[in-house]
Amino acid sequence: PVILAIESSCDDTSASVCVDGKVLSNVIANQSIHEAYGGVVPELASRVHQQNIVPAVQQAFAKAKVSKNDVDAVAFTRGPGLLGSLLVGVSFAKAFALAKNVPIIEVNHMQAHVLAHFIGDNKPSFPFLCLTVSGGHTQIVLVKDYFDMEVVGQTLDDAAGEALDKTSKILGLPYPGGPLIDRNARLGNREAYYFPEPQIPGFDFSFSGLKTSILYFIRDNVAQNPKFTEENINDICASVEYRIATILLNKLKKAALHYGVKDIALAGGVSANTGLRLGTKEMCEQMGWNCFIPEMQYCTDNAGMIAIAGYYKYLKGEFADQGVAPLARMPI
Ligand code: ATP
Ligand code: FE
Repeated sequence: PVILAIESSCDDTSASVCVDGKVLSNVIANQSIHEAYGGVVPELASRVHQQNIVPAVQQAFAKAKVSKNDVDAVAFTRGPGLLGSLLVGVSFAKAFALAKNVPIIEVNHMQAHVLAHFIGDNKPSFPFLCLTVSGGHTQIVLVKDYFDMEVVGQTLDDAAGEALDKTSKILGLPYPGGPLIDRNARLGNREAYYFPEPQIPGFDFSFSGLKTSILYFIRDNVAQNPKFTEENINDICASVEYRIATILLNKLKKAALHYGVKDIALAGGVSANTGLRLGTKEMCEQMGWNCFIPEMQYCTDNAGMIAIAGYYKYLKGEFADQGVAPLARMPI
């Protein structure tokens, strides 16, 4: 089948065309408008989605060299995400499907982050554990089948991406800070500064304490030396990134041992992080586990992952009806 997929849950507008389970295009239009505000402004996001969606879809067809008339189904992100942003993608998907008289397929954004692993040739086998780390979520997911997933651990407060973005704000770096922390960290010493690891039971996480300790650490040092942050930016970024990666990997390891799972996967925007990718590979090598990390373009929000999720739903004949509405919250 030919599937057109739309992703618009946050601030990226993305369209993808997938033919028989092969993702042929994955066009992503970023919104730079939010940089000036230090975070995503929902009202602005939905307006920019409206401007971007038609060109993104046109490009997705052009890149895939597929005609709009050959589409068999339209997949879209139903949730979770920003309601106004989701509404643009959901409405577009419905209208396109009505015009072409084809069915629509609703996709859960967090399931899609996990299913991004089925885009390439190197696929994990069930059951596997997926650490999904993004701007809004931090979850350890036990993946039993394409659409049979159980969250076995999650954050009790901030997401890992949020911790990175808030840290970068404290450091005076522009939004989104994750990629900048990554870049600076490559030039720094990860053992330069020590931040404590929270003691949380089970496979759950907490990042709000870490954020506070970073805030106080910077405040106290800047009081002594106003140039502290800029003089030590690389070491600070490396130390923060290292602590966040170790918090994540220690829990992932604990869960893998508990469930006896040997296929380990990363997903979500923060899985683009160099330190976390390297740390995961190292842990898997040590433990004799198979490590699965998506290509960069399929880590952050993208329609390719919506397309592959849509493909597996198409095979099961699971279609939505035209009355479907987006959901800001949507369990996996
Ligand atoms: P969700 O998927 O939970 O709804 P989202 O869609 O906002 O949230 P993603 O696009 O999956 O999240 O991920 C965005 C997050 O990834 C941001 O917090 C960003 O800072 C972080 N991020 C992106 N690249 C990197 C990187 N190289 N290193 C660290 N963090 C990164
Ligand atoms: Fe996401």
